Amino acid sequence: MSILSLKDGAAARSQAEQIPWPQKAPAACPISAVKSRLRSVGLRPTRQRMALGWLLFAKGDRHVSAEMLYEEALRAREPLSLATVYNTLRQFSEAGLLRQVSVSGPKTFFDTNVSEHHHFYHEDDETVVDIPGSEIQVTGLPVAPEGMVVSSVEVIVRLRRADGQESVAKIAGGSRA
Ligand SMILES: [Zn+2]
Repeated sequence: MSILSLKDGAAARSQAEQIPWPQKAPAACPISAVKSRLRSVGLRPTRQRMALGWLLFAKGDRHVSAEMLYEEALRAREPLSLATVYNTLRQFSEAGLLRQVSVSGPKTFFDTNVSEHHHFYHEDDETVVDIPGSEIQVTGLPVAPEGMVVSSVEVIVRLRRADGQESVAKIAGGSRA
C-alpha cells in the first residue's frame, strides 16, 4: 500500500509514474510501519500525518525543511498547506519522532535520525550531513549552573568551499527538541 492508493483516478496514476518512491518503497517501511510509529507516540494516524509521515520516514535518514517537505507533498498531490506541514512537523518533533537542527538564523531542518549525532552544514548548497556521535569528543564544557544538567551538546561544523577562508565550527548547546 502506498500513499497514492489513498487517492484514485488516472491523474494520480500518471503522477505516480513520475515519482520514484511509492512503488519502490523499502520493504522495511510499509505504510503500516508509519501508522504504528505514529501510534507508538500517541499520535492519531490522520490522513495528513500519514501522508507526511510516509514522505518523511520511507526514505531512510533525512534532513528536510518545512519548505522541502511541502514541495514533496505538492509533487505527491497531497492537498496540504504550508501551515499544516509546519504544525505536523512540530507535533512530530514534540513527540520525539523528529529532531530539530537549527543551522543558521531561522533555518531549521527536521532530522528523522533522533539518535545522538552531530552535523556538517554545507553553506553553499544549504544541506546537512550527519557526523556520527562517536566521531566528535567535546571537552572543556562549562559546569552547568546550579540546579541544571547538560541535556545534550550538538556540534554543527559549517563548511564552505575552500577559497582561503576558514570554516567555522559552532557548538550549539541543545535542548533536545
Ligand atoms: Zn542528522
